[in-house]
Amino acid sequence: MTWKTKSTSAVGRPPLAARSANLVGSVIDSSTSLLARQTHDIVRFAMGAPSDDLMPIELLDRYAAHAVAGKYSYGASEGEPDLIDEILKLQAERSWSSAADRITITTGGMQGLDLACKLFVDQDDLVIVEGPTYTNANATALSYGADLLEAGVDEDGLVVEALPELVARAGRTPKAIYVIPNFQNPSGVTLSLRRRELLLELAEQWDAVIIDDDPYGLLRFENSPIPTLNELDPGNPRIFSVRTFSKILAPGLRVGWVDADPSLQPLLINAKQAMDTCTSVPAQRTVTDFLAGGHLQPHLDRVLSLYHERKNAMRAALQCHFGDAVRATEPDGGFFLWATFADPEVDTEALFETALAKGVAYIPGPAFSTNDHFHDALRLCFATSTPDRIDEGVARLKSAVDTFGGI
Ligand code: PMP
Repeated sequence: MTWKTKSTSAVGRPPLAARSANLVGSVIDSSTSLLARQTHDIVRFAMGAPSDDLMPIELLDRYAAHAVAGKYSYGASEGEPDLIDEILKLQAERSWSSAADRITITTGGMQGLDLACKLFVDQDDLVIVEGPTYTNANATALSYGADLLEAGVDEDGLVVEALPELVARAGRTPKAIYVIPNFQNPSGVTLSLRRRELLLELAEQWDAVIIDDDPYGLLRFENSPIPTLNELDPGNPRIFSVRTFSKILAPGLRVGWVDADPSLQPLLINAKQAMDTCTSVPAQRTVTDFLAGGHLQPHLDRVLSLYHERKNAMRAALQCHFGDAVRATEPDGGFFLWATFADPEVDTEALFETALAKGVAYIPGPAFSTNDHFHDALRLCFATSTPDRIDEGVARLKSAVDTFGGI
């Protein structure tokens, strides 16, 4: 048999490792490629990333050209020291004290989540997740064989006081609790102070790690910030914080960071070395120069006033076109709002094709659960469309619902 011989096996591929059965696709990513193939006008409420007009592209281009020049070698696995310094300054300005031996630069927030699971989650370990939660985080935990326990979310975030009963019913304590404390993806809600405190207590009681995933925390446009878990309990080794520049700057840079107990850094470095050796040096230098130039806050000020206006436009449009037939969350920041139909028979997955034909895209609720929940709900990204387009998109959604059978 030569290397050119075609495989005759039924599936046409070599035998897979058992764990490959745990690799599940992302509905968000597949809907992105579906949308890319559409040629008609679509109001895009589906994607959760800043559009080109919401990124400081001119500045990034300038810094990127400089960052790439002559920098083609490997960097340190824990990240470029100058970037770590800038991150420490960024956190210190927000009263989060940290130290260089707590920070590891990652290839986006996703690598931070992967590292968290690699360090803490064994096959069949119980991991508490919010329901609904970020699809790709579920996929990461599942890829390590986690047994996901979905806990409810209300307007104050994860319903932490319900966890003891859920855990008692599960008959074993969780190894990890995955939480998105601010402007949660997909619901837009924020974990209250009382629940943050209770979460810290329960994690202690159960000897569990808290995977604190906060990509949207700096995107607050209303009301006062709630202290982070780290501010509430500085140095608590159970808090494993995952951060990223994807939402506050640009997702294609793929630069994020982990802030975790110093005892974990050698393990994180080992894991990075076995994974990607280091995060792209030019990408890290681009972010470093942008931060050192003092551009982050002016950039945030610009986009936050747009996001605020767009959130209001989305809520107003839902009220105008749907009235009481839809209940929407009221986010204080971030990108998303979660809309639930009053009629539980509405199926947002089934509706999707009609909505797309009418020229509006969203992510159906079941994408955010591994239990096939939330058929009557959908995630709407308000951040990337102008108020006029938001109104047009919500009108198209109403028309799709009417065509599909009304509510
Ligand atoms: N966590 C959450 C809650 C997210 O919404 C996202 C991005 N959609 C990520 C992590 C991943 O971030 P990154 O693109 O930096 O990998």
